Amino acid sequence: MAEHHLLTRVGLVRIAALLGLAVWGIVAAFATISPDPDARELMLANTSTLETLDLRPQASLLPAPATYAREETFSSGDTLARLLQRLGVSDADTRQLLRARALRLVRPGSTVDATVDASGGLINLSFLVGRDALVTVRREAGGFKVEQAAAPLSTRVAIKSGVIQSSLFGATDAAGVPDHVAMQLADIFGGDIDFYRDLRKGDRFAVIYEMHDLNGRPVRSGRVLAAEFVNQGKSYRALYYAGPDGRGGYYSPDGKNLRKAFLRAPLEFSRISSGFGMRLHPFLNTWKQHRGIDYAAPSGTRVRAAGDGVVRFAGRERGYGNVVILQHWGPYSTVYGHLRGFAPGIRRGTRVTQGEVIGYVGQTGWATGPHLHYEFRIAGVARNPLTIAMPSAQPVATRDLPAFRRYAASLSARLDLIAGTNLALLE
Ligand SMILES: [Zn+2]
Repeated sequence: MAEHHLLTRVGLVRIAALLGLAVWGIVAAFATISPDPDARELMLANTSTLETLDLRPQASLLPAPATYAREETFSSGDTLARLLQRLGVSDADTRQLLRARALRLVRPGSTVDATVDASGGLINLSFLVGRDALVTVRREAGGFKVEQAAAPLSTRVAIKSGVIQSSLFGATDAAGVPDHVAMQLADIFGGDIDFYRDLRKGDRFAVIYEMHDLNGRPVRSGRVLAAEFVNQGKSYRALYYAGPDGRGGYYSPDGKNLRKAFLRAPLEFSRISSGFGMRLHPFLNTWKQHRGIDYAAPSGTRVRAAGDGVVRFAGRERGYGNVVILQHWGPYSTVYGHLRGFAPGIRRGTRVTQGEVIGYVGQTGWATGPHLHYEFRIAGVARNPLTIAMPSAQPVATRDLPAFRRYAASLSARLDLIAGTNLALLE
């Protein structure tokens, strides 16, 4: 110990000499002057071993804070009494608060902020309810006052990227991307990429999206502003753009609309079903043998209309089991077989829009496990949709193109930046 002190002092002397300071003046001096930062760090490291030089203020000398702010999460199985206790609320106030109807709005997963005084008296408490409403409980003369108002959310832009290992959700989880954003990605690129069958290990994405915060804490994600998806080596880019009429959509950087007349996969993409596409499913038949595409998916997965159209048939038909046939514009029709059941209101003559739920995956008819049998027909003949170029929705209007290009250039530059970082990580 003595030897250690000696070494330390020698070190101090040497550094002090370098700085031209008297050894015993150092402690007072280094707090006020700013010597070379490296040397200063050295000094701090050395002085910390000298027990006599305790720079920490005495706890008893600090003034006691008048209020304490805390945040706690209400978990399932939790009780309001326990939550209030963790927040430091006194027993007397807890009893009174438990009688307030407002507190019953706290849901598992909610974060509750509270400020209490030194003796546990509640000053105020707040938590979010529903979509972006903030409930505030405040102490007022004679009791507590409850208010509900729109939460003062702030919006920032979040930028994330990831590489697919086993599923889209696996990759978005690893990158800290909210589910709501992952599902938007699947929707945005759903005209070009079949997220059930086309995804491969090594595919990657970069996404720029809005994030809404309350007091610096993320509350929920908002809209995707721009994204890139690289699928089997082919890059797709999407930029959100609202024209002068205020109607927004996703466009490629050259102004083409990403919305296609038909979805590539007529299934709702969800956390539960996302892993299935990556597996080799047991119903793999060649196109020649069976004139349709089979999607292995958990029973109950929502089946969506591939395009706008009218229901021509919804009922039972031999090998198809429960089947929906949609008639689209021109010569196109689509067939959805082996359904467990139909969505409410789906019957002959019902008009449906692209993406609308028409039924649920099942295994009715000649099926050995739950899957969707999907056919794309042209003039009544089943065709392979993968080989047919699909028309897109309207591109950006010519008169709006200059404004769109300026906007697209700035977002594309940001995507380049993230995509570049990604590549560097992979190398
Ligand atoms: Zn089939």
